[in-house]
Amino acid sequence: MKKFFITMVILAVFSISGYTNQEVMNENVFAKSARVLDEINPSRNANYLLADENFSNLQINEIDKPIYDKYSIEDREKLGLKITLPEIAPYKQEKVAYLTFDDGPDDKVTPQILDILKRENVKATFFVLGNMVEQNPKVLQRIFKEGHAIGNHSYNHVYSELYKSPWDFIAQFEKTDEIIKKYTGVRPLIIRAPGGTAGVFNNDYWNMVDASGYVEYDWNICTEDATASVPNASTQVNNVKKQIGDYPPRTLIILMHSKAGKEETAKALPEMIHMLRNLGYKFGVVTPMTPQPW
Ligand SMILES: [Zn+2]
Repeated sequence: MKKFFITMVILAVFSISGYTNQEVMNENVFAKSARVLDEINPSRNANYLLADENFSNLQINEIDKPIYDKYSIEDREKLGLKITLPEIAPYKQEKVAYLTFDDGPDDKVTPQILDILKRENVKATFFVLGNMVEQNPKVLQRIFKEGHAIGNHSYNHVYSELYKSPWDFIAQFEKTDEIIKKYTGVRPLIIRAPGGTAGVFNNDYWNMVDASGYVEYDWNICTEDATASVPNASTQVNNVKKQIGDYPPRTLIILMHSKAGKEETAKALPEMIHMLRNLGYKFGVVTPMTPQPW
């Protein structure tokens, strides 16, 4: 009876998460051994991985599982826990596209993007702003629950404040960590410097980021949805295609934006996802084991 109940729960979970019947059948074959593994690692079935005290469990084999920390940097300092990350081998085994959306969450375009990602069964990464999370905490929670990765993109995106000094820069990220943690219970380990690091980061900034245990990710592809001309959906897909070129890189970190005025970005997504799939890319979320894009 107990066994039947567990099987029904597993079936229910898979049907909620959108698995097809065939997939449920296949999953059932492995259900017994999966249960044994679950006893060893209870977080195995969560759609994210929590870093342990020493950051010793971050080397994983799943490209679409976000990684978070349950401790803030301040907690780690107080408890005497490790703050800097260990060496993690970048995941280069296959062609992976990382869709990233900056400057949200808003309450209009971000939900449209989330609907499309759900339909296409693709996980992506949202580099959010602290002040936008304060305005739209429910959208942040939806991003989190649907298994996408949340990254930190500063509190207010104001260059003159952020790039005054490495201390001013990092203070905005710590503040935003606290806001994200308030609504999700976790904080990201990945960050993206507003505008990217080129031209604004010197060694002091890189050292500060490392010492704080963050990994910074710029991008190697962009849809150009932040340019003044605001390209339409098909131009955005073509921009990506052009930038990939004749020799597609193994790792694509694609920059887009999820805020008011970026409706064309949402519209471009289905075609972009199909184009990337046709080129042989899988979809991953940015974690500390994501290769750097350069
Ligand atoms: Zn930005």
